Amino acid sequence: MLRGRLKKALEKIRGRFLYVAILYSCCYFLFQSLSPAGASELSEVRDIRYWSSGGYTRVVIDLSKPAEYMKRRLSDPDRLYFDLRNTRIPKEIKKKLPVGDGILRAVRAGQYSSDTVRIVLDLETMESFDVFILDDPTRMVIDVNAVHKEERKYQGITKMTVVLDPGHGGHDPGAVGPTGLQEKDVVLDIALRVREILSNEQNIEIIVTRDEDIFLPLEERTAFAMKKDADLFVSIHANASPRRGATGIETYLLNWTNDEEAMRVAARENNISLKRMREMTAKYKSDDYLGIMLSDLRRQNKRDESLKLAHHVQNSLLSHVSKVNSTSVNLGVKQALFYVLRGATMPSVLAEVSFISNPLEERLLSTDSYRAVVARSLASGILNYLSNVSPLQKVAGMNRGNLHRKEKAYQVSLRH
Ligand SMILES: [Zn+2]
Repeated sequence: MLRGRLKKALEKIRGRFLYVAILYSCCYFLFQSLSPAGASELSEVRDIRYWSSGGYTRVVIDLSKPAEYMKRRLSDPDRLYFDLRNTRIPKEIKKKLPVGDGILRAVRAGQYSSDTVRIVLDLETMESFDVFILDDPTRMVIDVNAVHKEERKYQGITKMTVVLDPGHGGHDPGAVGPTGLQEKDVVLDIALRVREILSNEQNIEIIVTRDEDIFLPLEERTAFAMKKDADLFVSIHANASPRRGATGIETYLLNWTNDEEAMRVAARENNISLKRMREMTAKYKSDDYLGIMLSDLRRQNKRDESLKLAHHVQNSLLSHVSKVNSTSVNLGVKQALFYVLRGATMPSVLAEVSFISNPLEERLLSTDSYRAVVARSLASGILNYLSNVSPLQKVAGMNRGNLHRKEKAYQVSLRH
């Protein structure tokens, strides 16, 4: 009797245990499949790269998809670290990159926990740092800025370095006109023409970020200018709008804006959606960012100088282009958060020379003569700026007389 009861009780416990075990297993698998930490959900580190220049060290972490991150600075030894959540780093990725450029000692990476990758930047000296995420493919860009040095002395300098950046290239056509003209081809041709014109200037060294139809990621363009220790950076683009009638010229510098049109242009040039652009703008506006980031942006791009350069470029484009394109409109000097201008410490602007989406301006942009006018006006705008910046006036040969002769030559050739 007793044995029978005991057997029943045992069977009951076993049954409950089995029930609990099954329930637990079900919950476990359900949790696993819903959990963002599930293996298939993890972002993956694809590569770690860096560029050194006197002004900053730019570190780029290539990811398979966006990941949230946390950043922190620690002392003894001085280092920055970034924890990338829901991320893994495969074995084949190099985990330590010695840098030793006076800003960073090294970049290290490791699987900190099952779903967190830690990126450590061992610092030598740093003034500030800046992080932003680029899309398509996803990458995290960390700019570690060098301790601010004394302003560069221009006296005695005989050559200025100007970096021209024709936008897009390779698999990225940029904006495409109604009949199929691609922005990448137009702006490359214009940039090469500007290089040709300014190559006659003994005191200017012109370098282009690309001289053929190749793809160049946005972060590499500014890094290139920094590496070349450029004095000016001019990114050349053609505009586009869903309104076919939109025409005109506008020149941008890097800064925060809530202007919808400017955000739309920046979103297109940044290759991100307008929604993402609005989110980024809102993020900048948040308390955490506004004060610090905006002062950093101003400092980084020598905002006042960029503004002057933008006005010279814009005025020159307008005065020359309006002679051959009566429909062109002055859209003015504007500002927006362009990724391609971030991290540059020299005066830097982005010019939208005409609307490739407008049928008339597309036709003009397809002609040699119009491209020549645009190129000459960009060259003239750059020269105007250089000859007006007081420390640069002393650069031998960079004087008004020289420029006026050049201006006259442009006007003569424009009439023909
Ligand atoms: Zn563009």
